[in-house]
Amino acid sequence: MNALLEIKDLKKYFKTSRGLLHAVDGINFAIERGNTLGVVGESGCGKSTLGRLIVHLLEPTGGKIFFEGRDYTNLSHQALLESRREMQMIFQDPFSSLNPRMTVKDTILEPMSIHGMFGGDQSEQTRHVGNIMDAVGLAGNLANSYPHELDGGRRQRIGIARALALEPKFIVCDEPVSALDVSIQAQILNLMQDIQSERGLTYIFITHDLSVVKHISNDICVMYLGNMVEKCPAKEIFKTNYHPYTRALLSAIPIAKTGVKRERILLKGEISSPIEPKPGCRFAPRCIDAKRDCFETQPDLVEISPRHIVACHLYSNVRAIKK
Ligand code: SF4
Repeated sequence: MNALLEIKDLKKYFKTSRGLLHAVDGINFAIERGNTLGVVGESGCGKSTLGRLIVHLLEPTGGKIFFEGRDYTNLSHQALLESRREMQMIFQDPFSSLNPRMTVKDTILEPMSIHGMFGGDQSEQTRHVGNIMDAVGLAGNLANSYPHELDGGRRQRIGIARALALEPKFIVCDEPVSALDVSIQAQILNLMQDIQSERGLTYIFITHDLSVVKHISNDICVMYLGNMVEKCPAKEIFKTNYHPYTRALLSAIPIAKTGVKRERILLKGEISSPIEPKPGCRFAPRCIDAKRDCFETQPDLVEISPRHIVACHLYSNVRAIKK
């Protein structure tokens, strides 16, 4: 396998007055070069923390991050700076992630200046800004505009352009379309797919909405309270899924065809606390299939079929995969 990124037993715990909050609790996966992994789960499941750990906006509590086979876990200041050229992030809210005092041109130019791209040659850097604006569909006459003068779709195009400025190999896209109108979402998703195939980029695409990642992802990973509960090829998850939480997420997707109905699974019960979590499956208090064992032992990940893994006691007859 030609994995660009591999994470092993990645953890992030935050200290709180009530104990340790397990935001990300032992996640393992690998992404092949040029592929997209969709990471899905409701608010608070740890998906954004996971993205921030990978691009080193947060320090992990434990585990390893490998990028192109090199250990990228604990980087020196210089190595961290260099990693920014390889890995970038696109944020959810383009308005708050952009500096309101910087023009479009300066926003895209800034990372190039910091990293001394093109040997610091400003005319080359300016030419590169023009190329990137063109690539993301921003008209050249917007170069001197400020974020507040533009609509949400154009602002997110600036966010994408800034992420592309250093010509990275890998981008974490954290809910990049959820703050946009539905009509604009499709444009931005198409743009991101075009850029990916032109530049051979690898993405992690974080979202709470499974339907958003349906077409853009090769694989989908479902997270619940810091754990990965199911992962499989994107095409498969919509036909064959195993974890009760994945089924509940899928049942919330509206069906476009008239006359076709899907039974909505409404989750009841309290969400477990991620602070010093109790033993057992974290989904148990909301799971209609929960048995006694579910409240006592955390389920291992098992491989139900090639590349389809799930953590649930309903499938405990399948041998656990090695971590
Ligand atoms: Fe439900 Fe038990 Fe499976 Fe958890 S392990 S998802 S509680 S059946």
